[in-house]
Amino acid sequence: MSISVFDLFKIGIGPSSSHTVGPMRAALDFTRMLEQRGCLQQVARIRIVLFGSLGATGVGHGTGPAVILGLEGQAPDTINPAYLDRRLAEIRQYKELQLLADHAIYFDEQQDLRYVIEPLPQHPNGMRLVALDMAGIQLLSREYFSVGGGFIVDEDEINASDQAIDRSTEGDIHIPYPFDSMETLLRHCAEQQLTIADIVMANEKCHRSETDIRQGLLDIWQVMQACVSRGCEMEGVLPGGLEVKRRAPELYHKLKSRPEAALRDPLSALDWVSLYALAVNEENAAGGRVVTAPTNGAAGIIPAVLHYYMRFYYSGNDAGIVRFMLTAAAVGMLCKRNASISGAEVGCQGEVGSACAMAAAGLAAVSGGTPEQVENAAEIAMEHNLGLTCDPIAGLVQIPCIERNAMAATKAINASRIALNGNGEHFVSLDKVIRTMRDTGADMQSKYKETSLGGLAVNVIEC
Ligand code: SF4
Repeated sequence: MSISVFDLFKIGIGPSSSHTVGPMRAALDFTRMLEQRGCLQQVARIRIVLFGSLGATGVGHGTGPAVILGLEGQAPDTINPAYLDRRLAEIRQYKELQLLADHAIYFDEQQDLRYVIEPLPQHPNGMRLVALDMAGIQLLSREYFSVGGGFIVDEDEINASDQAIDRSTEGDIHIPYPFDSMETLLRHCAEQQLTIADIVMANEKCHRSETDIRQGLLDIWQVMQACVSRGCEMEGVLPGGLEVKRRAPELYHKLKSRPEAALRDPLSALDWVSLYALAVNEENAAGGRVVTAPTNGAAGIIPAVLHYYMRFYYSGNDAGIVRFMLTAAAVGMLCKRNASISGAEVGCQGEVGSACAMAAAGLAAVSGGTPEQVENAAEIAMEHNLGLTCDPIAGLVQIPCIERNAMAATKAINASRIALNGNGEHFVSLDKVIRTMRDTGADMQSKYKETSLGGLAVNVIEC
């Protein structure tokens, strides 16, 4: 299994991993390729075409700006979200962008950036970048595909058998416990007398030291916490034109100001879980700094359940955070490898469903669940997201996405509790449910796969 835990948990910006983070990475890759080939300074024009779901919902997802800033050398994990709007306004005003912050070219967004609803044949999220010289002669043309969770593959890689391999983890690295199914993973656990988190850690140590892995995951946890804090404070209306009001600040102040009410209401913990998810996804919708987990549309679920663990478990600590994330990553790897985590490929079941299964598994693990109970928790969570379509209104990651994260976070907690009350034996395996998710996604009409051409997106009139 070539996917790293750090491929599934990545620091990025909102609102979308496949429509913002991935395209920015692709554009950055393209300009670096121009530089490597020694033709960056000859570039006079860049033409960008966004196809399929990127074309249909790219405006609402900020895909064009992400590509433009990627061409300038910006990366999703380091760009200052506040810089994005300011720089974009300058580019639009002066019709000039700086390739890799080094070479100025004329750029007219109206002429040089096109949105095409028709997809490329290889994948629903395609984009083409073409560099031309002063005479209009093509210097370089590349097609990229944003395959979910910020992962990108280019035109050569898309045809390779294992699309799930991200360029950052390619290589001939021997890992001690390879697994491409939960069945194999559980077998490793039984044979080695290790937990799922132990197995993932052992594999991950092929890439970096255990100290670095633990610290890296805790750094990601810090970003998640900062995101929740910002989301609880930032008031107002989300960008994009739907006039969706942020709800997290009001809920946060309500919960904080009535601690005694919590004593009378045994379910008040759920209000906190919803708050955490709303806070993250409102930040994501506003283009803020978030952790892709495993996508941006579903970025609130794992932080919400992690916050729940830290706030409501006496045993909550940093070691548990690491164990939770390693376990959740194992489930995410299987979802990505054997189905998809892209709403454009399989609908929201691949985004919110995968995140829900990951969170349920993580919580079951830190609650003392056996590997079988952890698998059961993930299976329950995924099973009850099957068939979930992706139909964001106006192509914005707001409705139904924000609330859906709150619903999935509470579902993950319930799935974990159901599994922990059993002994791990159950009827349907996680592997079968993931396969069902893949097949259901393949049968789903394309209008329900991040095109905003079906479902809520057409049944709710935009104001
Ligand atoms: S509906 Fe689900 S898959 Fe679609 S953009 Fe929203 S969160 Fe992502």
